[in-house]
Amino acid sequence: MKRIFFFFLLSIPLVLTSCFESLKSDSLSKEITDLKKELASLQREEVDYYKERDRGLVIFNDTVKEGEGLYQVLARLQVNEADRRQVVLAIEDSVELSNLRVGQVFHVAKNQKGLVEVFRYEENPATIHLLFRDPKNREFYYRRVDKPLTIRQSIFEGTIEAGSTLHGTLIGVGVPVRMSGIVAGVLQCKIPFSRVRQGDRFRVMLEESFYQDSIWISGKVVYAEFDGKTVGHHEAFRYEDPDPKSTFNAHYTESGEALIFNGLRYPLDRLHITSPFGWRIHPITGVRKLHKGVDYGSPMGSLVHAVAEGKVIVSGYDEFSGNKIAIHHADKSTSWYLHLSKRGVCVGMKVNAGQVIGRVGSTGSSTGPHLHLGFTNAQGKWIDPRSKTMIATPKLEGGRLARLKTQIKLIREEIRKTEAMSPKKIGGSNVKVKMRIISNKVASK
Ligand SMILES: [Zn+2]
Repeated sequence: MKRIFFFFLLSIPLVLTSCFESLKSDSLSKEITDLKKELASLQREEVDYYKERDRGLVIFNDTVKEGEGLYQVLARLQVNEADRRQVVLAIEDSVELSNLRVGQVFHVAKNQKGLVEVFRYEENPATIHLLFRDPKNREFYYRRVDKPLTIRQSIFEGTIEAGSTLHGTLIGVGVPVRMSGIVAGVLQCKIPFSRVRQGDRFRVMLEESFYQDSIWISGKVVYAEFDGKTVGHHEAFRYEDPDPKSTFNAHYTESGEALIFNGLRYPLDRLHITSPFGWRIHPITGVRKLHKGVDYGSPMGSLVHAVAEGKVIVSGYDEFSGNKIAIHHADKSTSWYLHLSKRGVCVGMKVNAGQVIGRVGSTGSSTGPHLHLGFTNAQGKWIDPRSKTMIATPKLEGGRLARLKTQIKLIREEIRKTEAMSPKKIGGSNVKVKMRIISNKVASK
């Protein structure tokens, strides 16, 4: 119960933003005083922060527009340049800034000198990121608020009708497009869909989270099964590493074979994109420039892998790229790896997909350890590496394979429980669905 009050308190800034008024209003002070009684068990910082609000902060908000990043939104909120940089640097390790969506809302609370005291980013209605300025050292510290979610499992089971595809069938019964795309993409590694016949059977289990029981927050495909007259029986299982940002989180067969169509290997074992491909205003220089690759934040010395088989055509150093390696691939594309601390290959060497070629560093023009991965196509044009499908490894081995086996047992157990629910037929389709609420819990990523 205390949690609920806490979230209500955090939502107070939203109420006031439309009128741009100071928080120092009598009714609000009373409300805060009342609520403070409920806050005894909560973290001291937040309580102190709301006490501090009597200093008369003013709150502003704005939304992300097409092609914009955090830096641009902060500029429109008339946040001064020094604060803009500090906010970006304080939050970029905790938030995937490359995933901002049009319409997402940012709030800043400014003090009477116009300096940012609080920054608030609502990633979705259930996930709030906050920065508070420490009154003593003036540095920002980060807090994340996860509201309780309802997690629901659904099993969709049916047959393919004449003239229809699996993808089309799933969308037709209300499976979100992104997830039906994942099901089709995973299964097409094993199934030539041209050989799918009317009456072939499929079964898919999704796990989705909802805020307040109805607002969709996230979802994943836990299991997909296809049983066809000519293509045979196939199953795909979702595997999860302990680290949610692990590049191994994907779908595999029961024997650990990765199910990602035409995949490239990832350059790192863990992915945290700090800057995406495309036009951006540089967080440090403030200059608008095309960023010709993806930056992955990564600890100094992390292993860097070749994304595909190829031949090393550059292994050297320059003052901008630092230590750099380029590998030319069979499809005439070239992958580029910059700012390395160590290079482990030389020009002319042949490398395999996934082979270690160097280590993450911060050499050349760089503000901290990260890998810049660039990709040129056969015509030499820079393309977004993320437009190519990437894969951690074609096969899980050792500890990861053992972990997959354990997870498959659990998935089968979950399927059994959800299968026990009574089925609902969906519209005039050949598909029925069974649903089960598996928990009400705080979101985790
Ligand atoms: Zn870069």
